[in-house]
Amino acid sequence: MIKVKKSISIKFLLLCFSIYLSIAVLIIFFANLLSKTDLIWVAVLTLMLCLFISIGVNLWRKNKILDLQYRYLDVLVNSLDQIVIVTEGTYLSNANKSFFDFLGYESIDKFHEKHDCICEFLEKIEERDYIYRYKGGQNWVKTILANRDIHYKGSIIKDGKRHIFSICATHMDFDELDRSIVIFSDITKIVEHNQELEIKISARTRELNRYINLVDENIIISSTDINGRITYVSEAFIKRSGFSREELMNKSHNIIRHSDTSKRVYEELWATILQGKVWRGELKNKTASNGYYWTDNSIYPNFDLNGNITGYTAIRRDITDRKIVEELLITDALTGLYNRRHFNHMIEVELKRAKTEKIEFAFIIMDIDNFKKYNDNYGHQLGDSALKSVAKIFQNSLSCNRGYPFRLGGEEFGIILNPLNKQDSLESVQYICNEIFKAGIEHKFNNNYGFITASFGLCYIQNVTTDITSDLIYKIADEALYLAKNNGRNRVEIKNL
Ligand code: GH3
Ligand code: MG
Ligand code: MG
Repeated sequence: MIKVKKSISIKFLLLCFSIYLSIAVLIIFFANLLSKTDLIWVAVLTLMLCLFISIGVNLWRKNKILDLQYRYLDVLVNSLDQIVIVTEGTYLSNANKSFFDFLGYESIDKFHEKHDCICEFLEKIEERDYIYRYKGGQNWVKTILANRDIHYKGSIIKDGKRHIFSICATHMDFDELDRSIVIFSDITKIVEHNQELEIKISARTRELNRYINLVDENIIISSTDINGRITYVSEAFIKRSGFSREELMNKSHNIIRHSDTSKRVYEELWATILQGKVWRGELKNKTASNGYYWTDNSIYPNFDLNGNITGYTAIRRDITDRKIVEELLITDALTGLYNRRHFNHMIEVELKRAKTEKIEFAFIIMDIDNFKKYNDNYGHQLGDSALKSVAKIFQNSLSCNRGYPFRLGGEEFGIILNPLNKQDSLESVQYICNEIFKAGIEHKFNNNYGFITASFGLCYIQNVTTDITSDLIYKIADEALYLAKNNGRNRVEIKNL
């Protein structure tokens, strides 16, 4: 509310009064020096002086106020907003050029030929519409007074188009007249733009939600906190793992960890993501019903605004079908061990690793003793099942993560041992040799052993130099095996490179 002081202030009157009182005191003080008539004249003159001063100051103040009013009016007249002055309820006492231009009237008189009240144009577009409620001759100014400054929206239909206005009204208290100044700002374009934006945003939000649902239903996603506790799982994750959401939430992500995946893979995974990097790789996962599924994973660290890791999000692609085909391609049909094709690939991979990491390398060839005689005496079919049994013992006695077992062909098997020192390598192989004999699979025609036995040739390399090839390793292991056969079978022989 604009308020301007209209009359002399009390402060000013007090000042005049105190000056007058001081002079009066002085006069009384010098009273003895002056005659009574002089005293009266001095008093009258002082009173008149004070009166003139007060009238002068008052006029000066009024001029300043007028000047201020004109300056305000200047701003209002030239404003692009439509500004009107309302008096006596809702009577339009004046308006600026912008207002007349908008409504198509040349002057206030032309306007009054048709209308009195500005409210006639206004349409209610909001509930909180004070002015509209007082339409029909009620006192707009009093409404503004009662509500102090008011801000609301209204609209005016012009040439069939709705113009939306932000309306701000305030009471003016310049003089004795009750007037309100009302500013109409045409916000049609802003409102239309906002509406367009809202339509676009809601369309985008719908589209986004559709994508989110599609992702949720089709992509295996999970998020964890920094300790690996599950904080989110997608529908696809729930479907593929077979666990319910309740079974998964707040549990360790180990819940889907499959025992076939080596510890080394998880160590590498954690080392990568703890550094804030993305880990990519394939993992075999466990289902709720103890089955398995393979996924191709990208595990991303999540960061807060300060760059601290707050958790991890994993996005996975189901690659079980591809893995089954791949597994078939590298698996021996009779024994279920890795086949020769996979051996040819793995020996190159592991040899390269040993060369770069400068670690020891050990390869073993195993050959069943006198197996031709077994076939000849027990038949080929029993020969096959004996091969399967030996393969199982061979696999089981190779303690967890000690190495990869292969069927190299016929009744020959191989192992690429994980890095071990020479003594441990020898002990591991000797253990397998003993286990096969201890299994007691009858073979009356195997020298004097009475059971199936096998001979082992171990090629051990302490330092894998660049000139060492897989063919050379195979040859050395074969020579060691030849020694084992010549030295009586059912034994391990070692050759170093
Ligand atoms: P050695 O102790 O010197 O190894 O004697 P051996 O009789 O085992 O000799 P060798 O290794 O040369 O013989 C391989 C035999 O293994 C030939 C074949 O009868 C048998 N054999 C190879 N592959 C299979 C198979 O898939 N099934 C069966 N039942 N027998 C096989
Ligand atoms: Mg053989
Ligand atoms: Mg043999």
